[in-house]
Amino acid sequence: MKRVNKFRLRPTKEQEKVLFSLCEMSAVLWNKLNYTRRQAFFEGRFEWKEGIDELYDEFKRILCSATTQQIIRKNNEAWRSFFALLKLQRQGKLPSHIRKVSPPRYWKDRLLNKRKLITIIRNDCYRIEEVREKKWLVLPKGLKIRITGEIKWKGKQGRLEIFYDDLTGRWYAYQSVEVNQPRHTISPKRAFVDLGVINIITAWIEGERQPIAFSGKSILADWWYWSKKIAHYQSIAMKMNKSYTTKRIRKYYRKRQLRFRHAVNTIVHKFVKLCYEKGVTEIVAGDVSGIRENNNKNAKIKENYTSSVCPRCGSTNAIKHKRLFKCLDCRLEAHKDVVGALNIARVSLNGRDGFNGVLAHPAVLHIGGLQTSPLGIPAL
Ligand SMILES: [Zn+2]
Repeated sequence: MKRVNKFRLRPTKEQEKVLFSLCEMSAVLWNKLNYTRRQAFFEGRFEWKEGIDELYDEFKRILCSATTQQIIRKNNEAWRSFFALLKLQRQGKLPSHIRKVSPPRYWKDRLLNKRKLITIIRNDCYRIEEVREKKWLVLPKGLKIRITGEIKWKGKQGRLEIFYDDLTGRWYAYQSVEVNQPRHTISPKRAFVDLGVINIITAWIEGERQPIAFSGKSILADWWYWSKKIAHYQSIAMKMNKSYTTKRIRKYYRKRQLRFRHAVNTIVHKFVKLCYEKGVTEIVAGDVSGIRENNNKNAKIKENYTSSVCPRCGSTNAIKHKRLFKCLDCRLEAHKDVVGALNIARVSLNGRDGFNGVLAHPAVLHIGGLQTSPLGIPAL
């Protein structure tokens, strides 16, 4: 099982100069190779070997042969996955979340018209040293850089990708690690999940009486807060210098995305932890492809079959009002997201009735606190 450690590099001024030139030259290599390949591809004469020997000879002296080889290899991977997607597209099997298939891009920031500063260190060309709480990254040519951040995963080390974030002026590294997967021997237990926007996760765990939901309301509010801020500064930038973007705006975009991602990750982390504690061996989720497209101001998600069918009697003769689902045949009244989660259970369990007595409304968990559902709620 592959895992990734992310940590921050704290180079000295001298070390930073070395990193800058290493990454500059790595980007030059990537862009040269990618240019050759893109030209060849668009002219219909793509050839894996074209230009490789020349580039290798040219760059092995500048970058060392291991990094030259790693960058060529990473470019190969990018083109291989592009061709795989093209094939899926021709067969009409492209996953619905992929809208456009395009050849690998250059390591270049198109807005700033600057090279993206990245380099790759082969697994046998670096090591991480830990001396009394302090960690160091040891690179070829005697480069020993202070690093900070938790090394989460231990295992066989893979390649290391170092990159520079020019918005924050910070250096980071991604280290891939091969981790041994623990084997489960306990009997299977599943969690059925409905994904949404107002409730990010609504889940029912087999054998539990109360479904749970993780509220996304504060996440949405935060997202709109930053969006308004961005719009405000965009209108100023437009008036002042006829441009839609400034460094501040790019920072806010980034901030909005990071906060969103962090909040969703927290929810996913808490949910997975809960599942782990309850002995869940499998998490079954519904189709998420409709969420992104409809993630608009009204936060209305796709109404698919999972919330249109009664999970108790299978009837489609139902009315939905706001967050409530009401079956006109068996009179079930339940929270719409619980209906979604239970229907995923119903489909997965092949119609087997495994959820008698499950409460029809979820306990809503807010990040940082628990708000339980009011008492006296009917069971299914
Ligand atoms: Zn019903």
